[in-house]
Amino acid sequence: MDLAAIHHNAGVLVSTLAPLGIAVTGVTKAVLGSPAVAGAMLDAGVARLGESRVENLERLRGAGITAETMLIRSPMRSQVDRVVAVADISCVTEASVVEALSAAAMAAGTVHRLVVMVDLGDRREGVLPDDLVDAARRVLELPGVRLHGIGTNLACQNGVCPDLTNMAQLSDLADRVEAALGVELVLVSGGNSANLEWALSDPAVGVGRINDLRLGESILLGRETLHRHPVPGLRVDAASLFAEVIESKVKPSTPVGRIAQTAFGWAPPGPLDEAGTARTIVAIGHQDTDPAGLDPPLGTRIVGASSDHLVVSSPTPLEAGAEIRFGVDYSALLRAMTSPFVEHLVEPRADVRAPAAG
Ligand SMILES: *Cc1c(COP(=O)(O)O)cnc(C)c1O
Repeated sequence: MDLAAIHHNAGVLVSTLAPLGIAVTGVTKAVLGSPAVAGAMLDAGVARLGESRVENLERLRGAGITAETMLIRSPMRSQVDRVVAVADISCVTEASVVEALSAAAMAAGTVHRLVVMVDLGDRREGVLPDDLVDAARRVLELPGVRLHGIGTNLACQNGVCPDLTNMAQLSDLADRVEAALGVELVLVSGGNSANLEWALSDPAVGVGRINDLRLGESILLGRETLHRHPVPGLRVDAASLFAEVIESKVKPSTPVGRIAQTAFGWAPPGPLDEAGTARTIVAIGHQDTDPAGLDPPLGTRIVGASSDHLVVSSPTPLEAGAEIRFGVDYSALLRAMTSPFVEHLVEPRADVRAPAAG
């Protein structure tokens, strides 16, 4: 992880969204709540940190990070005591979980702030729009918790695009909750990296009541997530996966023998004759990353992968022991960060070893 690139990306997003009245919640779940990555985001001006897992919030707090934190996945009821200890704000959707948070906050002697999530069509988390006022009212009736805002999440489950219509609906709902309950909502959280197209499209239209976006992938990988286009001005090379060559030989590319299933049961790839090229095996596989999400160096091609072998073709053999640099998509990054076999380095770019190929 290149901290300078992450700092740059977070800073550009913060300063681009600030004139619209939108603050950034920096989401660290794809990097397992890395304190170094969180620190780079905070230095760049994100308003708070967002995490989906209490374990990662505990890691951040354990590293001495005192910034405001928001649990962006509805808490597990079984974890509410841990949640109120490390999160300042939780996104919630279930009355019984809100009650458990209320009891946990009372027991801990704190006040826990809640953002009620509303489902505007992507059909993942959230109460339905018609149920939002009642859900917000229940929060107001309980001790130990405070209604902090409302939020929505689109795109993740069904690819529903944040647009002028559903974002205006969220603004209207904020007005409706305030009018019905006589409260003021501090946070109206419009979504994730899939919201950038909407936010940056036509500044004349305005963003209504929305004053927060929870951004992970766009900070870490420099892309919006509806089309995975690079966001202008952002770096797409903040995350890299380096893997070591364990074998490299010029040998035939066409399999010999009767063909059935591969290690992962998929139909084997059609024989592709790359006679004369080298087959290079690097010591990484499905157990470490998502091979389909790796971007190999120029001139090389990923041929296939099993649990612990990734086969790459290249014009000439490489040295055993050499390292190959791969770019990563979100899926490859997530799994690489989660694998115990992958060492996680956070450092400035100059210290990252040069790629062995490409
Ligand atoms: C993961 C997640 C985010 C961040 O999404 P990115 O696409 O990484 O920006 C925001 N909100 C919620 C609820 C999430 O689960």
